[in-house]
Amino acid sequence: MSHKYVYLFSEGSGKMKNLLGGKGCNLAEMTNLGMPVPQGFTVTTEACTRYYEDGEKIHSEIEKEIFEYLTKLEAITGKVFGDLENPLLVSVRSGARASMPGMMDTILNLGMNDEVVEVVAKLTNNPRFAYDSYRRFIQMFSDVVMEISKKRFEEIIDEMKEEKGIKLDTEFTADDLREMVGKYKAFYKANLGTDFPQDPRVQLIESIKAVFRSWNNPRAIYYRRMNEIPHSWGTAVNVQSMVFGNTGDDSGTGVAFTRDPSTGAKKLMGEFLMNAQGEDVVAGIRTPQTIEHLKDVMPQAYEEFLTICDKLEDHYRDMQDMEFTIEKGKLYMLQTRNGKRTAAAALKIAVDLVQEGMISKEDAILQVDPKQLDALLHPQFDVKALKAAEVIGKALPASPGAASGKVVFTAADAVAWKNRGEKVILVRLETSPEDIEGMHVSQGILTARGGMTSHAAVVARGMGTCCVSGCGDIKFTSDKSFTLGGKSYKEGDYLSLDGSTGNIYGEAIPTVPASITGDFSTLMAWADEIRTLKVRTNADTPKDARQAVEFGAEGIGLTRTEHMFFEGERIAAMREMIVSKTEEQRRIALAKLLPMQRSDFEGIYEAMEYRPVTIRYLDPPLHEFLPTAEEDIVALAKEMNLEVKDLKDIISNLHEFNPMMGHRGCRLAVSYPEIAEMQTQAVIEAAINVSKRHPEWKIKPEIMIPLVGEIKELKYVKDIVVRVADELIAKSGIELEYLVGTMIEIPRAALLADEIATEAEFFSFGTNDLTQMTFGFSRDDAGAFLNSYYDKKIFEQDPFARLDQHGVGKLVEMACKLGKQTRPDIKLGICGEHGGDPNSIEFCHRAGLNYVSCSPFRVPIARLAAAHAAIKASRAK
Ligand code: PEP
Ligand code: MG
Repeated sequence: MSHKYVYLFSEGSGKMKNLLGGKGCNLAEMTNLGMPVPQGFTVTTEACTRYYEDGEKIHSEIEKEIFEYLTKLEAITGKVFGDLENPLLVSVRSGARASMPGMMDTILNLGMNDEVVEVVAKLTNNPRFAYDSYRRFIQMFSDVVMEISKKRFEEIIDEMKEEKGIKLDTEFTADDLREMVGKYKAFYKANLGTDFPQDPRVQLIESIKAVFRSWNNPRAIYYRRMNEIPHSWGTAVNVQSMVFGNTGDDSGTGVAFTRDPSTGAKKLMGEFLMNAQGEDVVAGIRTPQTIEHLKDVMPQAYEEFLTICDKLEDHYRDMQDMEFTIEKGKLYMLQTRNGKRTAAAALKIAVDLVQEGMISKEDAILQVDPKQLDALLHPQFDVKALKAAEVIGKALPASPGAASGKVVFTAADAVAWKNRGEKVILVRLETSPEDIEGMHVSQGILTARGGMTSHAAVVARGMGTCCVSGCGDIKFTSDKSFTLGGKSYKEGDYLSLDGSTGNIYGEAIPTVPASITGDFSTLMAWADEIRTLKVRTNADTPKDARQAVEFGAEGIGLTRTEHMFFEGERIAAMREMIVSKTEEQRRIALAKLLPMQRSDFEGIYEAMEYRPVTIRYLDPPLHEFLPTAEEDIVALAKEMNLEVKDLKDIISNLHEFNPMMGHRGCRLAVSYPEIAEMQTQAVIEAAINVSKRHPEWKIKPEIMIPLVGEIKELKYVKDIVVRVADELIAKSGIELEYLVGTMIEIPRAALLADEIATEAEFFSFGTNDLTQMTFGFSRDDAGAFLNSYYDKKIFEQDPFARLDQHGVGKLVEMACKLGKQTRPDIKLGICGEHGGDPNSIEFCHRAGLNYVSCSPFRVPIARLAAAHAAIKASRAK
């Protein structure tokens, strides 16, 4: 086999991350820098993908290559696998391209067997250490490779502690540990019917296979989906000669960060334990000491470690997260990587590194993951109070934020309690469109059912409201009480939700509001200098518009006018309009809607000042507005002078089997032109009124016609707009310009974009509908079956969250090209949910859009993502 699947650390480099994984390439890099790294070799990510291609088998040629490298490692270390004089012991650890902490498996002390343990005991003159290492190896091998539950091994430890009358693991004697090894092996045999493997080569190959398998364990798969890591990458495996931190009091092990991963402060942070192996530090059985104490215990190793830390940070130009071991006074580096950090720390470190002259502004921008900013944009829990609070349950972190308030169980109660000045948490089995107002006024939403794309999750994210969804542990004990975490909660009890972790707390935790200041604002200013893509917002109210401007929005890309009618009395007028049977009835209802809509538009223009505002004409899936509760139907019938029965007939006639593909968008204006007339009047009169107050703003409304698939449809509605608008402007005595454009959200419009552009002065890609209609997946229902697609690895990502660049993206690119052919200066934007998704934003940059538009709370994320896109595109040239 000519292909190389295995590399010594000394053969690799920091540039080979794709092949060697993060850990492998950093071990190679540290080796090249002359640092004290226990030597070893890396089996590549390609060997992992090959393992899967070959039906979960390590090809005999690859196995042969692994053993060739084992021989090389034996030569380097002067130790031999299974040798009875100087045995080689190794660790086997995973290491993917992107760090996936704790998701995959590790095996230490491999190479131990009944004979080797005796040799190690003699060589180290420390039988206790030898047997401790052996029993740990049996435990890890059984768990990771043979998938025998860890529980029984822990029980054996507990039983032996009781028998011997001791409390701590460290109190076991060498004889105790020898006895424990016997018990472990007996349990292994009883479970699997075979003896614990004594041949180190078998141990090695089985362990490498187990690490490859762990690439596909459920938590790793979930982690990859959350972090957009492709399944196809595979993991590398690092086989490294062991050094021991548990040989006595002159040995130890620890972890450290070159800067504080919580705050970003420039200060070495770390912990270590003397006479211990790595997992003891992580497991928290013994309390480690802070790294500064190492200075007292082992001054020389400490000094050397400090020098290495500086050198590593200087080399990688980023905060490092390191693992080290000291064996008999000698320091070894086991790992280094760019450390994971909180959003606040990420910003501070990036800005500090620029100010220290370590990196450029562009590098600083690329160092901060736009998605991470989310955590900083919603009200935050007071850090100290959060630490002190008790977690009573955990569910899906559906919409980030920190919420504290009193429990209510219905949307109506949420509104009533809010009106009397209370802060509430709405707890529901699941939510539905009728709950919208209650959701809106709540600090946070907690549901017992529903996933990340459930109604509650989607709506909450849109509103920037904290939401924890799908908490199956909640048991409703009545309409107004539930149990969770062994306690009972009723209406009015305090609850707090952390929408970033999914944690639920049974008490009030104080919060502080989010703002863009300090390092955050410095980095955002750098991002704004570099990006070329504009960032607008999807906002339906003056309040949302103001929030978005505060977060840096440069205009509105989408005002969903139907969303203005969800609240209070407005929904009644909207319902009246929908169920009207005659034009006359409809005009009466529209006349009620006109002043509300006009004043909302005025509020939005005021909030946005000179910035562009795109207003989208009515596009409600009708079912979202129809009354379902008996009392609402009775009230509406009264308002409209109808018999309840007649109204019920009308409602049932309006029932659509697929409302998302139904009578919505421009189809409404085609059937009922008076709707478009009313909306034009509201848009233009509001613009005239605000322009008279603020001529300097030069307001230029952008009127957007939705769901267009045919040029004649657009022309029909546009003619109404132009007629009404021009008449009003002429009467007003002022000059007012406006644009009429359309959404490209039906595949036919994308295919015929050159024709559409003869009438449309701008395009805004409605990628929610475009995705729905290109895939033929219902936006409302796909969540229920997409999980099977992730499980079967047909999809890696939700196409409604991250733009399907391959398919839907092709339509976008085509429409851009065709649109420009007809109208070279056509303005191009996107206003589907993808407009706030960093990966999709990169695509939008490449496709040549002028702007992206997203919910107010995603505006800073989009600004940073747009800067990433610009930097990456220019570096790719
Ligand atoms: C879209 O379809 O992408 C869009 C923005 O419109 P809506 O979500 O309101 O259908
Ligand atoms: Mg749409």
